[in-house]
This record gives sequence, C-alpha cells and structure tokens, in this order.
Amino acid sequence: MFEGGNTIVHKDETTGSDSLSSLATYAAGFEIVKAALKSDIGETAFRSWILPLEARRFDAGALDIRVPTRFIRDWVRTHYGDRLTQLCAQHIAGCTRIDYSIQAAAKPAAADAARPYEPVTTANENAAAEAAAEQLSSALDPRFTFDNFIVAPSNELAFAAAKKLASGENVTFNPLFLQGGVGLGKTHLMQAIAQDVAARAPEKRVVYMSAEKFMYQFVRALRSRDTMTFKEYVRGVDILMIDDIQFICGKESTAQEFFHTFNALMDQGKQVVLSADKAPGDLEGLDDRLRSRLGMGLVAGIQNTSLELRLDILRAKCVLMKREMPADVLGFLAEKITNNVRELEGALNRLIAHAELVGRAITLAGAEELLQDLLRAAGRRITIEDIQRRVADHYNLRMTDILSPRRARPVARPRQVAMYLAKALTEHSLPEIGRKFGGRDHTTIIHGVRKIEELLLTDRQLAADIETLKQRIAG
Ligand code: ADP
Ligand code: MG
Repeated sequence: MFEGGNTIVHKDETTGSDSLSSLATYAAGFEIVKAALKSDIGETAFRSWILPLEARRFDAGALDIRVPTRFIRDWVRTHYGDRLTQLCAQHIAGCTRIDYSIQAAAKPAAADAARPYEPVTTANENAAAEAAAEQLSSALDPRFTFDNFIVAPSNELAFAAAKKLASGENVTFNPLFLQGGVGLGKTHLMQAIAQDVAARAPEKRVVYMSAEKFMYQFVRALRSRDTMTFKEYVRGVDILMIDDIQFICGKESTAQEFFHTFNALMDQGKQVVLSADKAPGDLEGLDDRLRSRLGMGLVAGIQNTSLELRLDILRAKCVLMKREMPADVLGFLAEKITNNVRELEGALNRLIAHAELVGRAITLAGAEELLQDLLRAAGRRITIEDIQRRVADHYNLRMTDILSPRRARPVARPRQVAMYLAKALTEHSLPEIGRKFGGRDHTTIIHGVRKIEELLLTDRQLAADIETLKQRIAG
C-alpha cells in the first residue's frame, strides 16, 4: 500500500478539485505521519491499528482516512486520535481535522498484517493448526531468554514461576499472572517461556501474543465470519500467553471472547500465562467471574528495580554486547534512570553507539550531555499531588478542598477535573488514584472521570481549562 501506484488507484475516488500532485502530497505526508507514530507506539500496536489506515481524500483542511472496520476506527480514535491529528497538522500543510470513513468494499484490509486466515479444509488438521498457531504467535525476540534475565528479589518469584512452567514439570498454578509496571521484564519472561519450551519440547504448541494482536485477530475473524476457526486455533494450543491484558479489559466483545477462550483452556487443563500492568483486582472492566478465576492462579508481581539490579543489568548488557563502559558511567545511569529497564537499556545503547562513532570511551560528563533529554524526562514524572496542586491553584481552591468530602459544585467539579487528569497523565490505577483523593472508592474516580469526559463534549470553557492545566502540569 506504500507504492506510488496508490495515488493513482485513489484518484477516481477523490473530488475533482484534487490534483494528482496535491493528492500525492497529502498521501506522502500521511506516510510520514504513520512512520512517526510507529516509532511512538511500537511495532505491534502499529501493525494492528495504524498500518491498515489509508489517506483517501484531503479537502478543506480535512483529511479523510479510510479504516477497515468500525472497531478499528473507534480504537484508533480513542487511543491515537489526538496524536494523529497533531502529526497530520505537522506534516500535511493545512490539515486541521481528520475524518474517518469505514471501508465499504469487502476487499480485505490492505495491510499484510491483515492476511486472512486460511480456513482449515485439509485432512491434516494438525498441520493446519500448527501453521495457524505459528501465524497467531507474535515474533519472539531472541534476546529474551532466561539466561539473559537478571534475577533479584524484585522479580525472583516471577522468574522462578516462569522457569518452572517452561520446564514442563507439573505446576500447580494456572494461570500464571505476571504483574508489573512498564519495562520491568514481563514480556521478556513470557517470551523466555516460549523459547524455552520450543527448545525443550518442540511438539508443544505455544502461542504468545499481545492483547492488541489477540483483539485484532479476533475482530478480523468476526469480519470474515470465521470466529469458529479462530476459537479452534486458540483453544488447540498447549500454552497460551497473552501479554498486556489491561488492553483487553473493557472492550465488550473481545473481553467476552477472551473470557470464553480462557475458560475453555483452563477447563482442558491447558496452561495460560497472562501479564498486565495491574493486579487482577485492579483491572478495570473485567468480568467478575474472570477476575476470580484469574485470582485462583499465581499472581507474581514484579516490583520496581533496585539500584543493584539496575547495575547488574547494565553490566550484563555490556558483556552481552561485548562492550566496555566506565564504571562511573554505569553507576550514573543506574542512579538516574530508575523507572524502567527499557529506558535504561536505551540510554546504554545510545552511549555505546556514540562511543563507537567517535572511537573513544564515554566520560561521565559526556554521558550527562548525551542523555540530557532522557534524564530530563526521567526526572519529570508527573505525580497526583502535582496535579491536585495545579488544579487547586487554577480554581482558587486549597489542596484540602480537593481532598475533602465536600460535594458542593464549586469544589466537586475541580476535584473531578483533577481525577480526570490523574487518570490521563499518570500510570496509577483507579484504586490508587482513589486513595490519593482522600481515600475515595475507585468507582467514585470512574464516575468523576466519565463526568468530565461527558462535559468535555460540549463545554468549551472546561476544555480550555483542561488544556491549560495539562500544559502547566507538563511544563
Ligand atoms: P515489560 O513487558 O514488563 O514492559 P520488557 O519485558 O519489555 O518489559 O522489558 C523491557 C526491557 O528490559 C527488555 O529489553 C528486557 O530484556 C529488559 N529487562 C527487564 N528486566 C530485566 C532483567 N531482570 N534482566 C535483564 N533484562 C531485563
Ligand atoms: Mg511488555
């Protein structure tokens, strides 16, 4: 869909006012937008949601994007809508708005990610199922092995459980639920299981996929009226691993399907491994039966890294990449980049690349200079207290008003604004946010967030307030 020929195919669908060259310009601009988004959101999400989008018309400042399904449109709009609009404004001259139109024809989505299933018609069911499992499974990163995983008290339970499960010994827990914040090793451990089993017991069918991919595949099956085949594929596996299930929760039809699939597998005694950034009890929009079933397995939390673990990871990475880094530089990295192992590795990679380029070792001062942007970002984590303070200031209230039980509108509305911003700008779960708002229940937080979302549709003053607040808080 990226070939130049694309523009000609779409020529007849555009209004007469579009010249071929302007068409080519906005189409090219949109490819740049997609590429930018890809580096923002990562390969998996990109292939699932952004790759299938096509720019098909540009008229009076509005870019018309063709989307394969209603579901994808809704997903893209809620998750990437703002970012898309912003990028389009940046890369397509005069673009101020995006309209989404749902693809009318029965032609399959253009992306190769959307290659339809081959229905099982062959007598050799097993081979077909295997091929399908392969296709379903996401590509594994060969670096994500048990050997490359550094064990520390913060992750030893998760590591031991994953290792045991992969060993093929009978395990008493099912499902295994890996819970931990961003970049702490959940995906690494799941993929290590998949690679270990593949090496040890290649006859076993292991499917690893992100929740986003699971949903995408399911929706595609719905579209091609082939959900039975999808279900059979998924239910035919020995170990099913779904990564980041917080993305499934709250999406009605896929959540339901996930629930049924999960139950069917569990009933057959098949092993299930799941990960999420929250504990089962904190996942929103989760079916109660599913929640309790999840709780019956082993919930292995991965806690934040210690300084020591970060140093060990950096040293191990250097060995793995056969590179040397001065100890003070490694110490500096481990001390400054504390939130997320992925960012830590990113920083190290940058220093290594630089050292290679200039042909000499990085000094501490050099590292500080090279990592300025990362260090600034790492230092500026938004807290719920920041948000509450900014909101209180903006509405001329005191912090105590925000936390108080008072329900009068002049206090309650700003409090809801603060709840909304806490949800939007931090990674905290609803129960955590509730606790920071004077010990409120998470349902109160949901109510507050929804109220603001609803008001935002019509209340321009509120929208402007929230814009201002977002800028100040980020500032
Ligand atoms: P998550 O899925 O929890 O967001 P990942 O598994 O993608 O995090 O980990 C992010 C990066 O950090 C990966 O490159 C992974 O290899 C690395 N990493 C995380 N924890 C460890 C660890 N204990 N030992 C070695 N590498 C780790
Ligand atoms: Mg992950």
